[in-house]
Amino acid sequence: MPDYDAIVVGAGPNGLSAAVELARAGWSVLLVEQADTVGGAARSAEVTRPGFVHDLGSAIHPLAAASPFFRTLPLEEYGLSWVQPDLPLAHPLGDGRAAAMHRSLDRTAEHLGPDGAAYKRLLAPLANRWRSLMEEVLQPVVHLPSAPLLLARFGLRALCPTTHLTRSLFRTDGARALFAGSAAHAARPLSAPGVSAFGLLLHAAGHTVGWPFPEGGAGALTHALAAYFQDLGGEIQTNRRVDTLDALPSARAVLLGLTPRQILRVAGSRLAPRYARRLARYRYGAAAFKIDYALSDPIPWAAPACRRAGTVHVGGPLHEVATAEQAVADGHLADRPFVLVAQHSRFDSSRAPDGQHTAWAYCHVPNGSRIDALAPIERQIERFAPGFRDTIRARHAMGPQALERWNPNLVGGDINGGSLDLRQLLFRPVPTLCGSPYRLPTRTADSPGLYLCSAAAPPGGGVHGMCGAHAAHTVRADHSG
Ligand SMILES: Cc1cc2nc3c(=O)[nH]c(=O)nc-3n(C[C@H](O)[C@H](O)[C@H](O)COP(=O)(O)OP(=O)(O)OC[C@H]3O[C@@H](n4cnc5c(N)ncnc54)[C@H](O)[C@@H]3O)c2cc1C
Repeated sequence: MPDYDAIVVGAGPNGLSAAVELARAGWSVLLVEQADTVGGAARSAEVTRPGFVHDLGSAIHPLAAASPFFRTLPLEEYGLSWVQPDLPLAHPLGDGRAAAMHRSLDRTAEHLGPDGAAYKRLLAPLANRWRSLMEEVLQPVVHLPSAPLLLARFGLRALCPTTHLTRSLFRTDGARALFAGSAAHAARPLSAPGVSAFGLLLHAAGHTVGWPFPEGGAGALTHALAAYFQDLGGEIQTNRRVDTLDALPSARAVLLGLTPRQILRVAGSRLAPRYARRLARYRYGAAAFKIDYALSDPIPWAAPACRRAGTVHVGGPLHEVATAEQAVADGHLADRPFVLVAQHSRFDSSRAPDGQHTAWAYCHVPNGSRIDALAPIERQIERFAPGFRDTIRARHAMGPQALERWNPNLVGGDINGGSLDLRQLLFRPVPTLCGSPYRLPTRTADSPGLYLCSAAAPPGGGVHGMCGAHAAHTVRADHSG
């Protein structure tokens, strides 16, 4: 008899989700994590000054709120409470103006004026059927769709490069920039096919579940997952780094919440050689340069809409956002990088001492680069929020190397578990039309079944737990006999 039914390596949102799903089915599950706490890239800590709670990785969670898997879990009973900012998103344009996304699609369309009708035509079909949309999109591309027309509509728009889509649909700089900023979450040039998928998905979610964040920090979400898992009888071992599978107890299945480079190190000798060679060709994407701030005051945005938004995309008009993301793909940093800012403490008083504030910001930099983006990031924020620098009391910055030291899954600083280029958006970790992407072919049939359950599997990066949930379903299907 094996020691456990399943062992999951890595307690990020996906490892936790896989562990929960198996424990829920009555499996005995051990979850091992190299860090001293669970959460992976969805963790919070006081890294600047006491009383300032910072999200070291993920900060804004439309995908978690929309996740078909998380919606089946009683996470509120384990301390999760969502905070909805007044506005999900604002995008300053200069001269005190900003484009904004409201929860309401109609209000957003009204706000976008001459582009309102086009915006509504783009988003309404997706937002109206967002549950089906999330089910379809947050799973491997090769599947029998239950809403084929919806998926086709999404896919055709998603394949259209954002530079082209926004210029052909919209006339105003506001609508163009608003959509482009969301598409830029892909960390790819806006002229690349597939990037628009992020704009479509994030805006459809914004008009339905909003862009909320957990009260008290992103860690509240992963701690709720861990607490539920333990209540189901699951066992967690932290401070346990897995360097080889031989060091693990025996199990029927081992699920790796790691990315391909790590998997080749930890389990390469167990993999079928042809598959291992294909896995070695997996590509990593742009990195983040991340800063957490302790502030004396809220960020003094010139545009009033930015003061009401949980997330502010700081990048100016479409052509500046496009230039910034293209520069990263070309191996350098633009003078005006595209900066993503989250300001939790405006809406969640538990994040900072009375009257004081936190801010979370990052921009993309080339994978593994040593570029110091601190000054360019602060210049960009100051440009749209004059006086921002005077509010800074302390800061904590992590470039690509520091991010990878903090969490080995952030290879070269890549925050999405691997590049979201078209090939890996459609097929991860390797291109295949048959077989589950979650099953790792092994050299011999008698080794425990090996599975991939991280963001390196479909549907990719983001806190939604779907990679873990799908991997767990594959494990169960394989062992159903
Ligand atoms: C700066 C930043 C900002 C982000 N912003 C957002 C956002 O706003 N919204 C959003 O939805 N997503 C965001 N993301 C992406 C999101 O956090 C990730 O896609 C998600 O956490 C991936 O989950 P995962 O479980 O696959 O991997 P991870 O969360 O990376 O977890 C992997 C875990 O495995 C552990 N591990 C690694 N190697 C070993 C080993 N050898 N032995 C044992 N344990 C090991 C790690 O310590 C870690 O805990 C952000 C990420 C970062 C870094």
